[in-house]
Amino acid sequence: MKKESKYDLIIIGAGSGSLAAAVKCATEGKKVLLVESGNKVGGYNAAVRAGRYLFDPDFKGIPAEFLGVRLEDRLKELGADVPYTVNEIVLRLLVTDGMPREYILPVGFEAFKNKVNDYCPESEESTSKFFALVEQTVEGVKALVYGATREKIKKDYPDYVRASAYTLDEVEETLDMPLRAREVINGFWFYLGLTPDKLDFATYALYLYTYVSGGVFKPDLGRIDVDYAYLKAFREKGGVALFNTSVEKIILKDGRAYAVVTDDGFINYAPEIITDLPDVEVYNSLLTLDSVAENARRIINTEKHAASVVTLCLGLDRSFDELGLDVAPTVVLPSSDYSSLNDRRKDWRDITAMSVEPREEGGKYILKLTAVYEEDTLTCITIDNKKKQEAAIAERLIKRFEKVFGISIRKNIDGYVVFSPLHYAHTVSEYGGSPLGLEPTSQNSVYVRWNRRKLADYPVGLECVGVNGLINCFGADYLSAPMAMNAFWRVEK
Ligand SMILES: Cc1cc2nc3c(=O)[nH]c(=O)nc-3n(C[C@H](O)[C@H](O)[C@H](O)COP(=O)(O)OP(=O)(O)OC[C@H]3O[C@@H](n4cnc5c(N)ncnc54)[C@H](O)[C@@H]3O)c2cc1C
Repeated sequence: MKKESKYDLIIIGAGSGSLAAAVKCATEGKKVLLVESGNKVGGYNAAVRAGRYLFDPDFKGIPAEFLGVRLEDRLKELGADVPYTVNEIVLRLLVTDGMPREYILPVGFEAFKNKVNDYCPESEESTSKFFALVEQTVEGVKALVYGATREKIKKDYPDYVRASAYTLDEVEETLDMPLRAREVINGFWFYLGLTPDKLDFATYALYLYTYVSGGVFKPDLGRIDVDYAYLKAFREKGGVALFNTSVEKIILKDGRAYAVVTDDGFINYAPEIITDLPDVEVYNSLLTLDSVAENARRIINTEKHAASVVTLCLGLDRSFDELGLDVAPTVVLPSSDYSSLNDRRKDWRDITAMSVEPREEGGKYILKLTAVYEEDTLTCITIDNKKKQEAAIAERLIKRFEKVFGISIRKNIDGYVVFSPLHYAHTVSEYGGSPLGLEPTSQNSVYVRWNRRKLADYPVGLECVGVNGLINCFGADYLSAPMAMNAFWRVEK
């Protein structure tokens, strides 16, 4: 007997992006099926248990506000209940070459601007121009995402459009910004995996504004709590979630979404399909070659994915206070000379830049050390050498941490996990993407990408709403829900 089901909408994957979309669509009264190949929610951010610890890999926490939407409001709107705090200090930056420099950057856009001026009073004129451009960029992206036409964007946000073609460094140089101010402002580059001489200005502006203005949302019991709250709300609203079930094929008919075939032998019909898998995975593995226009496939296959990340999560048997460790999240950069940094970052043996994040979760002390690599690290870690390579990376990160902070933690470690590229490839069962999305160069700027994609013949009713969608990196939770509904409305029209 043929096994069939019918829905208004099918969502593939239970990562943060599609979970948010799933709840939103179920809230709007749609009959929704969510299909996840693994046995848990969270995708790249899924937690892993080691002894008495539950480690989740996120290294910064979720932005408390994005494009004018506060996460707490979004969670309330979707009926997802999560106890949380918002961090007061957004970042501490340590640059360790020459005479080491330390900068403490506070939450609040005004407070941040003032702090930059405190650190470098001589740069006020150039930084105020820079921050005005940042604000216009954020407004421009917001208009773009919520459907403004290309003409309107060009007319209302001309500086944003112009700046979209340049790197962070190029914009700062044009504004004649002194080096000290650049060092302070640029410290967040680490989280995007590209140094300022390569990093798209607009992506950076959006990222900087987002974390600085709203602070960081920290669920009390860890990142994974948000995803479980989404799942609970989804089920309460009548959504059907299938775990341990893989989508094998997406079927299109005349360029429109039509059905998905799952490995339980079902063919599931729906006029709308949403996924948080990277499009490169969707277009090459889940769609047949002849069902997609060549121009769409070519664009998808030439977009480069972002750097790889390795995060070491350590459980410590003593409090940060006892260890003499300040709890501010810190980025440690060996230098602001990017050319030398880039050479060294390609080498696995040299941990050049890292993020250090001490966090107390449920009465336990967890220290996360993260390094970002430019090269495709999947080629460095193989199944055969995984344990050895990961142990070696852990050793290097701990050594670097102990040297920079001048304290010893080795004897206090009573549980650890290394989240490496191979770990992610295994966890989310895909090899084509990066947890950080697409590489944030100017060629991939949101404005450029948006225009490029508009020109191609993409299938109707198939939307990638996760980290590899329109906005990379941190937009998954926030944007996927409205984007999903936009896609649905478009089909209904
Ligand atoms: C170390 C690290 C730290 C990070 N820190 C932060 C942070 O601090 N703040 C932040 O906002 N973001 C952070 N991110 C980014 C964040 O993880 C991603 O933005 C987010 O997880 C992406 O979610 P997504 O919706 O794209 O789905 P993904 O996480 O990509 O999930 C895709 C899901 O689809 C499932 N799947 C795959 N194939 C199939 C199939 N054929 N059928 C059914 N299901 C399938 C997978 O099992 C998976 O569950 C971090 C990422 C990493 C790796």
